[in-house]
Amino acid sequence: MAEKDYYKILGVSKNATQEEIKKAYWNLAKKYHPDKNPGNKEAEEKFKDINEAYEVLSDPEKRKNYDLMGDAFFKPQSEGGFGYTYSGKDFFSDLFGGSFSDIFSDFFGFSTKGKDKIQKGEDIEVELVISFEEAVMGCVKEIELKEQFPCSFCNGSGLDRSNQVKCNECKGTGFKSVRRGNLFIQTPCNVCNGLGYTNVKRCSVCQGTGVKFNASKLTVRIPSGVDTGHRLKVTGKGKPGKSGGKPGDLFIHIIVSPHPYYSREGNDLYVTLPLSITEATLGTKVDVPLPDGTRININIPPLTKNGQKLRVAGRGVKDAFGKVGDLYCVVKVEVPEKLSKEAKELLEKLKEYIPSPKRF
Ligand SMILES: [Zn+2]
Ligand SMILES: [Zn+2]
Repeated sequence: MAEKDYYKILGVSKNATQEEIKKAYWNLAKKYHPDKNPGNKEAEEKFKDINEAYEVLSDPEKRKNYDLMGDAFFKPQSEGGFGYTYSGKDFFSDLFGGSFSDIFSDFFGFSTKGKDKIQKGEDIEVELVISFEEAVMGCVKEIELKEQFPCSFCNGSGLDRSNQVKCNECKGTGFKSVRRGNLFIQTPCNVCNGLGYTNVKRCSVCQGTGVKFNASKLTVRIPSGVDTGHRLKVTGKGKPGKSGGKPGDLFIHIIVSPHPYYSREGNDLYVTLPLSITEATLGTKVDVPLPDGTRININIPPLTKNGQKLRVAGRGVKDAFGKVGDLYCVVKVEVPEKLSKEAKELLEKLKEYIPSPKRF
């Protein structure tokens, strides 16, 4: 196993903002999610790596530690064990003012000994694809949430300790003492990698990620007038908080499917209205079906030009703030596909009465 560069895994630069990290994670997690790649081992591994990387880089504190320690922390793993060994140097205690095992716990999210801070839960971001009509009228949608919670088998450590054996080398302390004159220097035990136990395996329930997913459904009312790029916030529906902290929020990113006839610009609706040359010239009435299921009869005045926009005030989209847009019918004058003999004769006659347009 190669060393893990979390930045590389997420495809972001070392000085990426939290927002960029979140975005990168979001995109990758979507791509490699097991639901989208059933039976694909490679995608599964990738998904685990992505989650592991995000777990660390999304937490400013963990990220700082990771940046400080760099790759020294992630060495090629010996088979069977968890994916790290410590290349022992006693600068850790100086650097972080704590024991190695404390850093270890913080870093990997092992059981932290009663020094949890009250923390708001993380936000969850989901994408929701809705139809054009649903966006115009509003709708009620069920959103499937993949809730992440600590693996109950390993308490989120990612480690299977069920067959662990107290380390002979360090007698379970995880440290080795080396004497230098009258100074004892403690370094993490190189036999058990500072765990104090050997035969510690990767947790098979969560594949060492320390997290499990639980699918749940949430019913959400999508207000009328939403559009692609809009984001809806559902307060308190994110990940649970830590140590009594408030839960995070759920953000729903709206994606609206295109409509075969209609398009939108803000609250204004646009529809192309094909007219024959006689309809455009003489004027007519056209029955237009609207995306909300109603119909409207549009009066086409005589001598309507190609490309002309006919505005129908107040028949656009009504948004969540009560603002209503307009409907624009964009005229497209179409020359007939073919002419009957009679039509041709009539047009030939008509030609004398209609002057040629001004050219050049
Ligand atoms: Zn040991
Ligand atoms: Zn587990």
